[in-house]
Amino acid sequence: MKMPDIAINESRVLSNLYALREIGKYKTGVHRPTLSPQDMEARRWLVTQLEAIGHEATIDGIANVFGRSPAGDRVLLAGSHIESQNYAGWLDGALGIVYALEAATVIAGEPAFAGKGVDVIAFADEEGHFLNFLGSYSFVGELDEARIDTSVDRTNGTRLRDALAAAGLDDEPMLRMERGRYRGFLEAHIEQGDWLESEGLDVGVVTSIVSISQYRLVFEGVQNHAGTTRMAIRKDAGVAARAFCQRIEEVFALHAGPRTVWTVGRMTLEPGAPSIIPGRCEVLFQFRDAEPDKLEELHGLLHALVDEANEAGPCKVGIETVSRSVPAVMDEAVQAAFEAAAQACTPGKHARMPSGAGHDAQVVSAHLPSGMLFVPSIGGISHHFTEDTSDEHIVMGARVFAGAAARLLSAD
Ligand SMILES: [Zn+2]
Repeated sequence: MKMPDIAINESRVLSNLYALREIGKYKTGVHRPTLSPQDMEARRWLVTQLEAIGHEATIDGIANVFGRSPAGDRVLLAGSHIESQNYAGWLDGALGIVYALEAATVIAGEPAFAGKGVDVIAFADEEGHFLNFLGSYSFVGELDEARIDTSVDRTNGTRLRDALAAAGLDDEPMLRMERGRYRGFLEAHIEQGDWLESEGLDVGVVTSIVSISQYRLVFEGVQNHAGTTRMAIRKDAGVAARAFCQRIEEVFALHAGPRTVWTVGRMTLEPGAPSIIPGRCEVLFQFRDAEPDKLEELHGLLHALVDEANEAGPCKVGIETVSRSVPAVMDEAVQAAFEAAAQACTPGKHARMPSGAGHDAQVVSAHLPSGMLFVPSIGGISHHFTEDTSDEHIVMGARVFAGAAARLLSAD
């Protein structure tokens, strides 16, 4: 089937993004934490835009914004999140919302696509002010009420239930994904890394979203006086932890895949005083990769390092797995649609790549064929108010995104 031409409105894409940047503006970025007045204003802004293109739009009981296309024959779901991290960038989340809105707009206005449409969703709290992927888990039916009861805002301790009530959403129903309605889910996002920029590429087609493996390591020594205890007889948990972290650097560097990343994010010495030899040290460690075999290998290596440290002494090391997710593989047909659209718009200046960050698409991909498109982040900066992408790349991404949606809606 020949695909009808689809042309986006470039200035509308940019002006919609600029409009969102004004809501909760902070320096060159935004401060729109989940369920804050400015976050709710952004959600209402989106409802207005969706109603203007003929979608039936609502904010549901968990703060997801959902715009339902009147089309019924063949429908895609597209979107991202609209809240931001605290005092952060203007494109993280907003880009995917504006692309989804643009794709929905041009397809709704194109007679050749009669009966076909794009439902738009802005998931609540992907950024995890209360709970990471709150809205996407709710939409796919994987959020139980107990999690809503126990979640609190990590910045100010407000209970999620109270925040929903303050936003006027406590009596609203929670919308669930209509099974069987969708051909797939598309999400666009800034890369949040510097790979596309360093390769001189315009867009990236995501192959899979990495899994994150997180561990808590506890080093047990003997707490004692830092002035009177001879070095030879000390059992210093801090020294043991630092030596262990050094071994991680050596061993992981030898065995890592090309995109493996690992981080010691926290070391807590107890009791944490200058004149006391630490008796205990807790280390939070994580690594990420998109390859299941590599993840398994690194998991095994970490445990081998724990055994090695316990044999060497003098401190004891315990390891606890905090969480291990599985990589979320993006659908091949959706990847192919993004790739074909990218090749049509910007020949040779696109590539497939894994995502090193988590996204709502990883939640939705367990239920729908899903795919993601990345645009370059200037300097790889994100989660900071200086986060940016050139207008040229923003417009190119929107073109590719709408082109992929059109392809998927036209396919047999
Ligand atoms: Zn994001």
